[in-house]
Amino acid sequence: MNTTRIVARSGRAASAVVLFGALIVAARPAGAQATLAGTAASGSTLKNGDIQHALNSAFAKYKDLKEGKNADYIPALAKVDPNLFGIALVTADGRVFTAGDSTTEVSIQSISKVFTLARVLQDSGEAPIVKGVGVDATGQPFNSIVAIEQHKGHEMNPFVNPGAIATTGMVGGSSPGNIWNRILDTYDGFAGRHLKVLDDVYQSEAATNQRNRAIGALMYAYGLISDKPDQATDIYTRSCSVGVNAKDLAMMAATIANNGVNPVTKKRMLDMSHVPGLLAVMATAGLYDDSGIWLFNTGLPAKSGVGGGLIAISPGNWGIAVISPPLDSAGNSVRGQKAIADISTALGGNPYAALRGR
Ligand code: GLN
Repeated sequence: MNTTRIVARSGRAASAVVLFGALIVAARPAGAQATLAGTAASGSTLKNGDIQHALNSAFAKYKDLKEGKNADYIPALAKVDPNLFGIALVTADGRVFTAGDSTTEVSIQSISKVFTLARVLQDSGEAPIVKGVGVDATGQPFNSIVAIEQHKGHEMNPFVNPGAIATTGMVGGSSPGNIWNRILDTYDGFAGRHLKVLDDVYQSEAATNQRNRAIGALMYAYGLISDKPDQATDIYTRSCSVGVNAKDLAMMAATIANNGVNPVTKKRMLDMSHVPGLLAVMATAGLYDDSGIWLFNTGLPAKSGVGGGLIAISPGNWGIAVISPPLDSAGNSVRGQKAIADISTALGGNPYAALRGR
């Protein structure tokens, strides 16, 4: 098709630039400033009082909400106080805001998958993940065995258990201890402090993770884990048992929001070139089967864990986290989703609505 000719004849494309048959139409309204940093400008122009007000309002609105139920398939998770409710937001320029309980720790659970993926992207680039594990939604629960069978271990993503155990198996190291230390050091760097395993959670999950061990074995059988599937599953289980509070999680999220650099310690944890891919996997598969509805409602790349944590990122602007253990039927924190959606709306965080209100 000769686009140039069609445009020229239509006489209605005054603002369109025709380049080698491709149309580029300026969508930015007159007066909007294009900046090299993209949406980062809006994060740094948010006022402290407005951010704190948004957190306080969401905390007050949802603190008495009793919907949802703690996960109980890992016995230790059923014992966590369901009233625990903490919100933290860290801006890409390093300002920290909290509401409620931002210091009590829960196990990081599936949110760890984001940062193990970051380790592998940093060490080995994108190809082993994209070609091996995949970066597609499975449409199945996070611990589905059917999803493995469907494509012989491929066509999934690093945030469902088979993909996460395979991703853990890709982390290099001279011994299991060294591999584990490299993973924990990665989480520490994103959080900006030294984190520890919650031993009761680790013991509880290690004693009841027969299904994950079966998943690891099946991924090995399909060649997606090259060696020692039990070791990969055990290190994965340990990764899920790391203790974090809402502030830790928000700092980890803000490090991604700040293009891979921890906004407080200034340590680079992930090359800028890997950040868009990591965010895309979060958008695709961060909230299990409800990733689509979450993205539709908020536009925010996010990741939940069955411990009750939820992180979300407004790229270039801020990272946010909520800890509230009661989960909905899809396995996502009820208060976490509501609080983050409200706060993001108040702060204009949806990247698909980047020009709204400016
Ligand atoms: N450790 C948990 C599991 O493997 C993590 C699951 C989750 O948070 N979705 O079952």
